[in-house]
Amino acid sequence: MTERNLPTLLADVLGGHRLTEVQALGLMTAQGRDVLRVAAAADELREQRVGDVVTYVRNQNLHVTNICKNLCGFCGFGRNAGDEGAYCCDKAAIQEQARMAYERRVTEICLLSGVHPAFTLDTFVDLLHWIHEAAPGVHIHAFSPDEVAHVAQKNGWNTRDVLLRLKAEGLGTIQGTAAEILVDSVREVICPRKVRTAEWVRIAKEAHETGLRSTATIMYGSYESARDQVEHLAILRAIQDETHGFTELVTLPFVHTNTPLYQQGIARPGPTGREDILMIAVSRLFFDNIDNIQVAWGKVGLKMTQLALLAGANDLAGTMFTDDVTGSAGGSGSDYLDPQDMERIVSDLGRSLRQRTTLYELV
Ligand code: SF4
Repeated sequence: MTERNLPTLLADVLGGHRLTEVQALGLMTAQGRDVLRVAAAADELREQRVGDVVTYVRNQNLHVTNICKNLCGFCGFGRNAGDEGAYCCDKAAIQEQARMAYERRVTEICLLSGVHPAFTLDTFVDLLHWIHEAAPGVHIHAFSPDEVAHVAQKNGWNTRDVLLRLKAEGLGTIQGTAAEILVDSVREVICPRKVRTAEWVRIAKEAHETGLRSTATIMYGSYESARDQVEHLAILRAIQDETHGFTELVTLPFVHTNTPLYQQGIARPGPTGREDILMIAVSRLFFDNIDNIQVAWGKVGLKMTQLALLAGANDLAGTMFTDDVTGSAGGSGSDYLDPQDMERIVSDLGRSLRQRTTLYELV
């Protein structure tokens, strides 16, 4: 991107022009001061689109098991059943976590779990019932398209019927995780046992069509190129054009330290600060159909979170209380963020912090 055409392009986007993939790629690979120009335009668009309010959800992660059929190369959390440290919570342990969340007045419980090879649709239904029993009225955000595909295959059901059953049994929203990078040549390297792109897309659309909204996610900074990142964003934008089912885009930088992909020299050590800022900023500029761009404070740290709020982000995700997935991969400080600390970094920018529900209603 030359000095001359960048300001024109950014002005066009602020005026309503939809970025093409080629243009987004130019922005995603910006260097030097252009990074700040892209970030400033994204910040302006954020202000136009959603104003100055920064939102967060009072939520808690609930860990079910770290036993996982997928053992993705970018993950330090998943284990085989016999491995040291492998665990699978029983009803009592799950309800204890759920009760703790309830006492902390969360509005959302988010399941963080491996894809246990023995789990079936009945297991998922049990989980929903146990959690609702221990934490009545709390929204359950759970099950990625990969988990939906897994239990559908185990039960011999189609995925649409699985989604309908989960919704009927009390699932609030599905997770847009397992997307990672929706480019099969990348998935073949970083998560070869997960559903392929077409299946992820199909299940996300089915979820939205059955009335289950979801997050959209991108896990970046491991093995993929900037071109792959943009292709991924374009797939998400096309789904949103059709269904309007995504609540937000969640940007998830790769946390590398304890992961096989990094230890084998296949992946790089996560994104740089420039890449973190550009991922937020380009996402804001690219998605004219997703209002909420979320920064993952548990993965980028509080100072980078604040900069992301100056580059197009408007949501701080949740309080979380615990995140063994980031911790197992080598991340630190990812367990709990007190709303008072959120308030400190938000008010420092002259913005205001508001609690929201999973579906972005202000509390
Ligand atoms: S990322 Fe998820 S699916 Fe992949 S190994 Fe880790 S827990 Fe399992």
